[in-house]
Amino acid sequence: MSDLKNPLTQYFHDEFPEQYQEPPGLQGQMNPLPDCGEKSYKGSGKLNGRKALVTGGDSGIGRAAAIAYAREGADVAINYLPVEEPDAEEVKNLIEAEGQKAVLIPGDLSDETFCKDLVEKANAELGGLDILALVAGKQQAVENIADLSTEQIEKTFAINVFSLYWVVKAALPHLPEGASIITTSSVEGYNPSPMLLDYAVTKKAIIGFTQALGGQLASKGIRVNSVAPGPFWTPLQISGGQPSENIPKFGKSTPPTPQKRAGQPVELAGIYVFLASEAASYVTGQVYSATGGTVTA
Ligand code: NAD
Ligand code: MG
Repeated sequence: MSDLKNPLTQYFHDEFPEQYQEPPGLQGQMNPLPDCGEKSYKGSGKLNGRKALVTGGDSGIGRAAAIAYAREGADVAINYLPVEEPDAEEVKNLIEAEGQKAVLIPGDLSDETFCKDLVEKANAELGGLDILALVAGKQQAVENIADLSTEQIEKTFAINVFSLYWVVKAALPHLPEGASIITTSSVEGYNPSPMLLDYAVTKKAIIGFTQALGGQLASKGIRVNSVAPGPFWTPLQISGGQPSENIPKFGKSTPPTPQKRAGQPVELAGIYVFLASEAASYVTGQVYSATGGTVTA
């Protein structure tokens, strides 16, 4: 008997309660809680023995990747900001419940020195590194360019774009043939929202970074791909990523999606797993969209 589900109603598809937290926000305080696969993701040994570093691994999309990687047999190090420790501790417990090693490395990715330390520590504590899932990001909506501060522009570019160069440069000497690098772009990298003038441009930049680095590292046997999510229910969105009045209809009409609901992070888990795994051996320099039907081209 098949338990086939309708994707329109498979996950939360009601209106969300309006809510706001100071950035970066804690997943544990969201209502409803995002579904990162804590109860639902089932592994089948696709990443046995692999060693993954996941940035933004405490919450949202990064948490979904971290849980899935552990359930597929990988040891996992996660990075996040120190204020996110409660979310990170939950992820550590979930990884360890699978019998996998969990390494917590808090710190600020907008600092190049920290990016190098992060990679060295992850490599040392995991005993190697062969998956980089670069998921961390900053998004703050600002309606008018006149109100967009240089500080915000610089921080958004540092976290979303510059840290990718710093982490990959540090990791490259450790990455073996067969390793996989996965960045996180966005539907915003194709259809920029007027209120995300800094963020959307970083997401376009990440697509270019992924395509160029994919070409550069192909001959080393290292693959580089990106995931482009549409609207997903995560702390990023309720901590200034959207104006608070957009939260109730987030994913239905603010922004609109053909599937008329926000995605849940677990709906990206299989994509982060696929791109990391040997099943994606001929896939590099590509962007994989999961947008609820919004066209990305
Ligand atoms: P999230 O808030 O759960 O994750 C973002 C993470 O970024 C935070 O948990 C935090 O640990 C990390 N971070 C932010 N600033 C940092 C810094 N200075 N140093 C280190 N870490 C820092 O939200 P999410 O939606 O899961 O975001 C993950 C990625 O997905 C981001 O790159 C975001 O741009 C992208 N994305 C999200 C959506 C969406 O609708 N939620 C859509 C498209 C793309
Ligand atoms: Mg977080």
